[in-house]
Amino acid sequence: MSKKTASSVIVIGGGLAGLTAAKRLIDSGFNVSLYEGRKLLGGKISAWQDKDNDWVESGLHVFFGAYEEIYELMKELNLYQEILWKEHVLTYTLDQGIGFEFRTIKLPSPFHLLPAVFQNQYFGWVEKFSLARALYPMLFGSDDYFRSQDIKSYSEWHKEFGISQKMLKKMFLPMSLALKFLPPEELSAKIVLDVSGTFLRTPTASKMGFLSGSPAEKLTNPLAKYITDKGGKIYLNSPIEKLIFESGEIKGALLKNGETLKADYYLLALPIHKLQEVLPERLREESFFNNLYEFEGVPVITAQLWFNQQVTGVNNILFSPDGVIPVYADLGNTTPDYSCQGKSRVEAVVAPARHIWDWDDKKIVLEVFNNIQSYFPKRSTGAKVIKSTVVRIPKSVYWPKPGVDKLRPTQKTPIKNLFLAGGYTEQRFYDSMEGAVSSGNRAAKALMERVLEK
Ligand SMILES: Cc1cc2nc3c(=O)[nH]c(=O)nc-3n(C[C@H](O)[C@H](O)[C@H](O)COP(=O)(O)OP(=O)(O)OC[C@H]3O[C@@H](n4cnc5c(N)ncnc54)[C@H](O)[C@@H]3O)c2cc1C
Repeated sequence: MSKKTASSVIVIGGGLAGLTAAKRLIDSGFNVSLYEGRKLLGGKISAWQDKDNDWVESGLHVFFGAYEEIYELMKELNLYQEILWKEHVLTYTLDQGIGFEFRTIKLPSPFHLLPAVFQNQYFGWVEKFSLARALYPMLFGSDDYFRSQDIKSYSEWHKEFGISQKMLKKMFLPMSLALKFLPPEELSAKIVLDVSGTFLRTPTASKMGFLSGSPAEKLTNPLAKYITDKGGKIYLNSPIEKLIFESGEIKGALLKNGETLKADYYLLALPIHKLQEVLPERLREESFFNNLYEFEGVPVITAQLWFNQQVTGVNNILFSPDGVIPVYADLGNTTPDYSCQGKSRVEAVVAPARHIWDWDDKKIVLEVFNNIQSYFPKRSTGAKVIKSTVVRIPKSVYWPKPGVDKLRPTQKTPIKNLFLAGGYTEQRFYDSMEGAVSSGNRAAKALMERVLEK
């Protein structure tokens, strides 16, 4: 370890971004202390056990073939094999048991998409051709083109391109709700085009996998153990109140309990609304920091329903444009550690959540149950919900509304001892697990570069 790298770093936030950054810094010889506000790690991928020892998750999480940095991290921790890849098919379930699929085949891009577009029976030929036209800019659009589309919403782009309204409602609506829990009229066209392009360009990019068990056991706890085994310190239940800013640099971090922490460097891996709270007001004089106040978090609800019988028969992710659950999965089938003797355990993203935030848990669970019954009328005959949970996150991922993309900050800030990580910071995968890991890697790298500049 060189003298230059033996500096101390305080990482604030124990989600994937903060944990990744902490690991990278520990590996490079820094003295790292990580402070997490809650009593458990993981942030948006956190999970905990209820009184029956069943795992409750903050949200339904799938891994995409397009991800890279999170797989490198998991391989380093010998965890990659915990991802179970599912059949490469997108299944849409609709009311009254109707459904349609998009399948891909093993051919070089873009030919792998041909059956997905042409074998689909649900959409007519005019609709399929309108989609085929849209695939061109998604597949071959340059970064500059995608960036230029950030001025409009995806639904505006869709309309301008003459793609059918049925496709917007039945295919892109659940996709955009699954992506950012908001409908296409509230999302920047850039994000939908960019993400679709990433998934469409490489044949395996859109294949999806599930962890074999809870994200706590299969990801965050082993990551935290690695950090502490290598001498890093992790403090739970330790929310930061404010950063202390004096003479152009960060001089400390004030904990909510009144204690002041000091280190050479500070790396904030917080959700954007929390970051806005802890940054000193004076930093807003810099446009870099002032821009961060343009960001908002999106509300989302996750419901988990344990059934008395098998109701889906599906071991994969499912989408639906009808009802309140645009994306869901039967974790009893997808996730071996959650298997319930052949019975279903459905985890569903309930979105958009804003309009139904005031509903009580009972009403939400009933609506999710009604949706499942409507999508699987035969299989769910006689089904009962034996247990349920509802997790509400009032401000989850950042809202990529039109115009916000250009404001996403770099991990390196104008303050020489302050760095940022998190899904909202600049990297290719927006607010996702891959985005969080990538931002953690970038923040740690930027910090190391800063040390070497000294
Ligand atoms: C319902 C849902 C479903 C999702 N599904 C997917 C998916 O299928 N695939 C995918 O790739 N991504 C998915 N995501 C996105 C993914 O979970 C996030 O992008 C990622 O986990 C963000 O990690 P992060 O470390 O940037 O932020 P966070 O996970 O939010 O971590 C920030 C941490 O900071 C802590 N903190 C907050 N305030 C303070 C404070 N004052 N002091 C100290 N600590 C503080 C928080 O408690 C938290 O632990 C989903 C998200 C949600 C909400």
